[in-house]
Amino acid sequence: MADAAIKIEAPGQPIQFIDLQAQRLRIETEINQAVQRVIEGGQYIMGPEIEKLEADLSEFCGAKHTITCSSGTDALMLVLMANNIGIGDAVFVPSFTFAATAEVVALVGATPIFIDSDETSYNMAIESLKAGYDLADRHGVIPRAVIAVDLFGQPADYDAIEPFCREKDLLLIDDAAQGFGGVYKGRNIGTIGQATATSFFPAKPLGCYGDGGAIMTDDADLAEKLISLRFHGKGSHKYDNTRIGMNGRMDTLQAAIVIEKLKIFADEIEKRQTVANRYNEGLKDICVIPYIEEGCTSAWAQYTIRVPNRDMVTAKLKEVGVPTAVYYPLPLHQQTAYKNFPNAGNMSVCEKAAQEVLSLPMHPYMDEETQAYIIRQLQQALQNG
Ligand SMILES: *Cc1c(COP(=O)(O)O)cnc(C)c1O
Repeated sequence: MADAAIKIEAPGQPIQFIDLQAQRLRIETEINQAVQRVIEGGQYIMGPEIEKLEADLSEFCGAKHTITCSSGTDALMLVLMANNIGIGDAVFVPSFTFAATAEVVALVGATPIFIDSDETSYNMAIESLKAGYDLADRHGVIPRAVIAVDLFGQPADYDAIEPFCREKDLLLIDDAAQGFGGVYKGRNIGTIGQATATSFFPAKPLGCYGDGGAIMTDDADLAEKLISLRFHGKGSHKYDNTRIGMNGRMDTLQAAIVIEKLKIFADEIEKRQTVANRYNEGLKDICVIPYIEEGCTSAWAQYTIRVPNRDMVTAKLKEVGVPTAVYYPLPLHQQTAYKNFPNAGNMSVCEKAAQEVLSLPMHPYMDEETQAYIIRQLQQALQNG
């Protein structure tokens, strides 16, 4: 039926998977001025913008403390370090996530145990977490923590994970690199678990113009340790070294940029929701659309559908100028670097999802025509497949 395909008028501009320039143009003056202020002010490390951003982030999500740092990866690592998690400890992580979630566990010397995904949300599945927990003993490691990931922006299944962590005395850490800005049943992401780690990598919903990250927590002792750890384990001053830390600070320049972007972040989340709604409407009858749990708001880091014949669909979309991406083509427990770590046993849900997921262009500034074009091209690719 391929020749029955009708020609669809393409938008004038190339379609962006994520359009960072549209956002930059919206707040161009503010960002340029903020950057200039930092350059002229001269406090490039731990300048006043760091504290300001930390206060703004705490206010935004309702956490008591925010500690900025060098990246989302370091945010996770710092939390593990602050809790003395290391050799002999087990940390449960989803397999279907970005490598950093598990990487930090291995870097501190602990053992990541990979957990399978839920079929509909792609987030960590509670039954698999329970199965993984029961295997820790066999691997000679002591269960210490769970890192839940808010994959694609959708908050993890905290109603199931939180009571399990409480019962088993496990720390709960939220890897909200994709989920910051979201809401879980009335609770803001940033306020769930002992600590929340997020990333300001440029492509995340709240990004800077380089690397950056932050940790949110209500725990004052933890906050104090994190402040020390991100600055070489400093004590009362920077040449007083009370613990082994790292150079994990966020640049003042990047903080100044995030301060400006945070002002429009809530509006951008709403715009992302509008884009997601339009995709849902146009695609619900032809492929598996994202499932968002009742009462939750996704930060829509990605809009991810599921199609059986992904390679064909991707190729057809590429031909007509629609960029797509696959997050993630291989779960971590099947990756060269991670395959020798334990997993929960049955990992079939994420293994299958990895072969079928496809992320579509998603950003707050997608106009209706461009989106209608993407939807029509996808309809055609799926129908003619
Ligand atoms: C991006 C990402 C990270 C790492 O963030 P960086 O700032 O790039 O270090 C960690 N976890 C998840 C789920 C991510 O998507």
